[in-house]
Amino acid sequence: MSNSTKYVFVTGGVTSSLGKGIISASLAKLLQARGYSTTIQKLDPYINIDPGTLNPYEHGECFVTDDGAETDLDLGHYERFLNVPTSQANNVTTGKIYQSVIDKERRGEFLGKTVQVIPHITNEIKERIQLLGNNGDYDIVITEIGGTVGDIESLPYVEAVRQMKWEFEQDCIVIHLTLVPYLAAAGELKTKPTQHSVKQLLEMGVQPDVLCCRTEHELDLTLRKKIAEFCNVNINAVIESRDAESIYDVPLLMQNEELDKVVLEKLGLPTKSSLNLDSWKEFLNRLKNPESKVTIGLVGKYVELKDSYKSISESLIHAGVANKTEVTVQWIHSEKITKDSVDETLKGLDGILVAPGFGSRGISGKIDAVRYARENKVPFFGICLGMQCAVIEFARNVLNLSDAHTTEIIDGCKNPVIDIMAEQKEISDMGGTMRLGAYECQLTPGSNVSEAYHTDKISERHRHRYEFNNSFLEQFETNGMKATGRNPKTGLVEVVEVQEHPWFVGAQFHPEYKSTVANPHPLFTAFISAALKNSK
Ligand code: GLN
Repeated sequence: MSNSTKYVFVTGGVTSSLGKGIISASLAKLLQARGYSTTIQKLDPYINIDPGTLNPYEHGECFVTDDGAETDLDLGHYERFLNVPTSQANNVTTGKIYQSVIDKERRGEFLGKTVQVIPHITNEIKERIQLLGNNGDYDIVITEIGGTVGDIESLPYVEAVRQMKWEFEQDCIVIHLTLVPYLAAAGELKTKPTQHSVKQLLEMGVQPDVLCCRTEHELDLTLRKKIAEFCNVNINAVIESRDAESIYDVPLLMQNEELDKVVLEKLGLPTKSSLNLDSWKEFLNRLKNPESKVTIGLVGKYVELKDSYKSISESLIHAGVANKTEVTVQWIHSEKITKDSVDETLKGLDGILVAPGFGSRGISGKIDAVRYARENKVPFFGICLGMQCAVIEFARNVLNLSDAHTTEIIDGCKNPVIDIMAEQKEISDMGGTMRLGAYECQLTPGSNVSEAYHTDKISERHRHRYEFNNSFLEQFETNGMKATGRNPKTGLVEVVEVQEHPWFVGAQFHPEYKSTVANPHPLFTAFISAALKNSK
């Protein structure tokens, strides 16, 4: 076989939530640091076309790429670790696979054949996997299979992996991530669940090449030998994956276990240059040795499930590192904030961030939080709906438009300071129809935002249907809330700032999607720096 791209599949067994995304991203980081161009892809076995229509309580945040794909939050980890943008092709769902096969059937492309899971669905899966390899940009494609081996819905994916391993024997390997639980009563680590999980894979015709074992305790040589023998893998391919203090420790833990070397050896690739992780280590060193501390209140309605705000909380960590500051996030439920409780709830915070969101639940608490931050001169960062709440709050309490609102909540409201975008008015489908992906934005020189970015031209990712209503712009600007970022083509307001305030920024876009370990996002960095000043 003469495919120059190599494929690494990552499957999971025993239980969900073992961290396949972090293991995949960590391996990719090591391979990248060895000079291999690497990308990661996530295959999600659910039937939704994409997670865009999913409630965050289901799978956490919806991550958005430059090309406007609404994707699984694991793509955020991939970008944060690798500092390379992902795209539509990096997230495939069963919904997308079936939609494409059914469209082909309707066009008559199967020439009268019966359309079946094997070969048609599995062929479509294989095509999507190879799409990233075929354009020649990547030496290695890591494909993470969502769900747990044995789930009914992941069967076609495992079958596609089996076929690819059979067709391209030299170019494909499988890493299986399992759990080696500690039984306190027995005082022992138990390997049986791993053995059974591998057995299940074998029943489907897939022999894993590497086993990554999540464990709370050291996996000693005897245990490694046992796992190797029972699961037919080399002993050096039994990798211990201990619980880590931070997800950013995992690449180094994997380096200690020589996961990258084992993978390269199995793929028949040379270890090339030595592995340079100096800047990564410097990041970790700063993360673990902060010189100061701030507390940020994150106001949102999904705070019970912190994954709903994954990119925001990671961006705060990156920005903390950039400021040599430990950032503690206080998660504040917007439904619990009322006019009476707001002072008590937000008192003592060094900065307040009002999160993105949809719908009316919790919005009044967000608006009260904005008021508190504006009046008490607490550094404020509003993102998407958070920015829209800042506009509504300013209209109500400074411009005295007491019934100002967004038409998302009150259709036909008298002072619609946030209104549906013109191009959104005729759209009725919910999936993939928002203003999505990267758009350019022109910043006002001298504003807090242009100072943060050190440039006046930026590009940021969007995910919204509503916008600042420009018929109110003059009134806002003469009263102290300025539009300091606008789309150069359409004039849409993308950033607002309150002038008489140390740092009050609302962004219609989502800066959190672009913060990485290598490049902490300038707005988050400036926000934490303002919070730090405030704390002193
Ligand atoms: N619901 C708002 C809109 O559609 C904000 C979206 C968001 O916060 N991502 O415009």
